[in-house]
This record gives sequence, structure tokens and C-alpha cells, in this order.
Amino acid sequence: MSESQRVARRPIRVLPPALASRIAAGEVIERPASVVKELIENAIDAAARSIRLEITEAGFGRIQVIDDGIGIPPDELPLACERHATSKLLDDDLRRIRTLGFRGEALPSIAAVAELTLLSATAESRIGRRLTLRDNKIVRDEPVAHPPGTTVIVKHLFANVPVRLAAAKQKHVEAAQIVQAVRRLALAAPHVRFSVLLDGRHVLQTSGSGDLVMVMSEVYGLPPESLQSIETVEAAEVKITGVIADPSITRPGRSHLHILVNERWTQPRGVLNAIEAAYRPLLPRGRHPLLTLALTVPPEHVDVNIHPAKLEVRLHHESQIGKIAAELIRNTLGRKARTFQLAAAAVTDPLVSSTQVAEDQPPYDNRLVVTPNLPPLHILGQVQHRLILAEGPDGLYLIDQHRAHERVLYERLKAATHDAPDTLVELAEPMILELTPSQAIKLSKWLDAFVALGFHCETFGRHTFLLRTTPYLPGIVTGTRHAGEFPAVGQRDALIPALLEALDDAAEEDSESWRERLCIRLACRTAVRRGRPLDLPGLCALVQALGETPTPAVCPHGSPTLLRIDGQALARQFDWL
Ligand code: ADP
Ligand code: MG
Repeated sequence: MSESQRVARRPIRVLPPALASRIAAGEVIERPASVVKELIENAIDAAARSIRLEITEAGFGRIQVIDDGIGIPPDELPLACERHATSKLLDDDLRRIRTLGFRGEALPSIAAVAELTLLSATAESRIGRRLTLRDNKIVRDEPVAHPPGTTVIVKHLFANVPVRLAAAKQKHVEAAQIVQAVRRLALAAPHVRFSVLLDGRHVLQTSGSGDLVMVMSEVYGLPPESLQSIETVEAAEVKITGVIADPSITRPGRSHLHILVNERWTQPRGVLNAIEAAYRPLLPRGRHPLLTLALTVPPEHVDVNIHPAKLEVRLHHESQIGKIAAELIRNTLGRKARTFQLAAAAVTDPLVSSTQVAEDQPPYDNRLVVTPNLPPLHILGQVQHRLILAEGPDGLYLIDQHRAHERVLYERLKAATHDAPDTLVELAEPMILELTPSQAIKLSKWLDAFVALGFHCETFGRHTFLLRTTPYLPGIVTGTRHAGEFPAVGQRDALIPALLEALDDAAEEDSESWRERLCIRLACRTAVRRGRPLDLPGLCALVQALGETPTPAVCPHGSPTLLRIDGQALARQFDWL
């Protein structure tokens, strides 16, 4: 939505009944936060650069919204409060909506449940007009001096609707809803300066810088370093960009996943599900990430006319968009090594490109590991039988051997679920699964699911099965083809117990999350233990395989796999500078 499209003011008109009847009707004003949302949307549609809110008693006292937008011409002010009167719906086409509002319902709906006062002036009108409505009737109408822009004051909300008043939650809940509504709109309009006062207290303030990282940091009070822009992609007809918070910052609900579709806040379920799936291996159960994703799609690819409060949209190609978004997030999350902060002000510098450094190193160095997703690392040795110590172009790296192996195995198991037969290993000697009767029944039922993961089992006696193949699990199970590539460092004997546990876990579960848990469990159980001494080939093989996974910086549980001790921080600590 470009600035010029919004600013071009069209006269307010009452929609023809045929068009009005096609508009998703419903309760627009349910609580104070709905008033706030509608009024801010109007200010944004009017191209305001600054929006100031002053609210008392969680909105039941007074809600005042002041904007510096294009204003309403005095002669149109009464019309603005009529049902289905709008200046926004162009050429009657509900499929190409570019503004946040389009139904002409908000002002009359507010006027029906509160006392509504509008003060407005435009750059052309030398003097403004003030209008007060009670029970949707004009009770005061006079000229007023007002700078270009609009002020809306809502008083005595729901005083005449006892049901709504009774349904209202405690004040702090309603106030929190208001803040949440403003937060969403502020993220959707990063160029607009917002300032919110609740009972005279500043509760939210944005600078209108237009920078999404900045706005996220302002609305959540987070340091900008904890936020990361994701790489922008433009595929076919969609452009995706966004900002994610560090995965250590989580929330108990989904409401801090902000999806903006053409600058409109919404929560398309398909996109949300895909994103949450990308986070699943990283976050503890029941916790949700904090992020803003901004999608730009052709206006005819979104139908905003399906929800009365316009909180949901119908989005074309939603599952495809979800897939791309999830991939982007996975890549962003998995690339960043945690920097070990020696000093509070440690600076992180960007990873030096691997090719450049690789050329500087002697090519025959058997301790040098060059991979696509980690900087070239010179393996120095093992510390405490649990950490791999390596030198990179930008500092010292400490790699948790167990988590590194876990990540490698997890990726292999996931690859096997995607049906790549060349990742299967035929076991020279099949492994025997001795089951309890109830496990045997379960295994017969889940046989196909196991096969889909690369575990081919066949019946061998009443409660006994033979495991004939597994996915290729480096360091655990190596077939002839992979022999010698990876020393056997892991816990091969943990494979069968982990599979049995997965059987006990397989209730009537949805199979995708069961499969995900199985992959995580198998990886965790069979990965090399901490405390196990490793020789140089073992250390190198682990780092090599880790750097080939797309997200080497975190284990499947979301804990860090590697820490970097910044070279500059060391220099500072030793006073070398
Ligand atoms: P809608 O936003 O769906 O058009 P509303 O009832 O919210 O319906 O507003 C009716 C009309 O009043 C808008 O179309 C717009 O022309 C005008 N209007 C409302 N608020 C503002 C504002 N803050 N600045 C300029 N015009 C406004
Ligand atoms: Mg509106």
C-alpha cells in the first residue's frame, strides 16, 4: 500500500445496499480494544505520521485518538458516522482492498454504544468542525479550530449496553488487550509514530523510524541485539521479510507471532502452523516464539472480507507461503553461533566467507574442516572429553560433541522420512527386538510408520521382530558404502531401547508430532556421550557432518551446539588493543 494510494482522498459515500449486503457483517465493537483498533486503523488509512492515544479506566472512561492525517472535510463529517458510509471502497471491488477499513461500520457502531465526538480539519478547510453523537444522534455541532487531522473522543463506552459492561473483564485485562491491539498496529505501520498513555502513564512509544527491528524492540522493550532480520525473499508473487527474536525469548501463547499481509495484521493459520513447525525442535513444549513476518502479495490474492473484525484473511497459496517462511526461519535460526560474552560489550563481527579463508590455509591440513554452513575450522582437540575446541577465522569455537552429533543424526532421520532410499543401510546382522505382547501389538500397527522412517522390521516368532534396515546414522550404523567415513563414536546399543520407547509413546497420537519426537529421541539416545574420549578423526568427522547440516548452531532441543569466543573480546581482555 503506497503512501499516495492512501492519501488520495475520495468523498465519503453511502454504499449501495447490494454492495453493503456483501460485506461480512458482525459485531465490530466488543470491548474497548476494538474501539482503539478501529480508530487507529482509520488514522493509518488517513496517512497519519503520528498517532497519540490517551485512555482512562481501560477505555471505559475515555478513549481519545489524535492523528495528523488528511482529516475529514467539514461538510462530510456527519456522513462519516452513517452506516456503510466510507471513502475507501473504490469501484465497488471487494477483491482489491488496499486500506485497513472499507465497510463504513466503525464510527456508527461506536456511536451506537458510546458518546462519540469527532473533531477534524483538512489542509484545505481553514476551519474544522466538531460533532458529538449520543445514541447515534447529533447532539452538538459547531465549528472548531483544529490542525489538519482528526481527533476522536469516545466516552461512556457501553453505558447503554449492560450486557457488554457485564461481560467486560477486569480493567487490567482490558488494558492489556488495548496494548496488544496497538502493538499489532504499530508493527504493521512502522513509519507511524505511536504514543499511548493509559491513565496518564506512557505504556508504549514508537519512533516511526520505519525500521521493523526498531519497532519490535520498541513495542517489546527488547534490546535490538536480541532481534534478527530474516533474509528477504521474493518468490513468484510474494515477498517475505521479517524480524525474529532470539529463540531463548519465548511466550506462552501464539499471540506474539505477528503476520502482516500487505501491512494488515493477521494470523493465517497455515502460515502459523508452518512457522511453529520450524521452531518445534528449538522451543520447549508449550512455548511459542516472538516474531514479525511481513508478506507482500497482490491485493487480489487476499480476501479480507471474511471476518467481522477483519482479524482473519483468506490468503491464496497459503501453504506454499508457509513453507517458504518456515525454511527462511530455519535458516536464520540455525546459522547464528552464540557468542560467548567475555565482556558485556563484546562485539560480534560477521563470519568471514569460507572460500576466502580456505585459500589462506594450507590445503593438506588434516585438521582443517571446511563445510558449507560453518566457517572453516581448525580442530585443536577435545576438552574435558565433552567439547571440541576449534579455531575459526573470527575466534575460538567450543562445540558440544553430544549436541553436535545429535543435530547430525536428527537431520539424517528427518531426511529418511522424506523417502530417500539411498540413505538406508541394510544391516549385515539384523538386530532383534524382543517385545512384550502389548508392544508387539503396537508394533504390528505402527509397522508402516517405522518403515517410512527407514526402519524395516519383520516378524520373527510371536513377540520377536528383526530390524533389517535403518537410515544411515553416521557414527552409529554404517553400511558397507559408508564404512570408514565416520568412526563408530555413538551409542549403537541405545537404538533398540529408543525404538521401544517410541512404541510405548505411540498412543492415538497424530503421527507427525510422534515422528518428530521419535527423531529427537533416537538422535538424543544414540549420539556420542559427553565423557567419551575422541581421537582426531572422530572430532573432525563430527564437525564435518555438523557443518553440513543446515542449522549447525542448535541441537534438536534448541540448546546451543557451539559457542564462539570472539577474537576481539579476547584482545580486549588481554589488553592487546
Ligand atoms: P471505514 O474505515 O470502513 O471507511 P469508518 O466508519 O471507520 O469506516 O469511517 C468512515 C469514514 O470516515 C472513512 O471512510 C473516512 O473517510 C472517514 N474517517 C474516519 N476516521 C478518519 C480519520 N481519522 N481521518 C480521516 N478520515 C477518517
Ligand atoms: Mg474504519
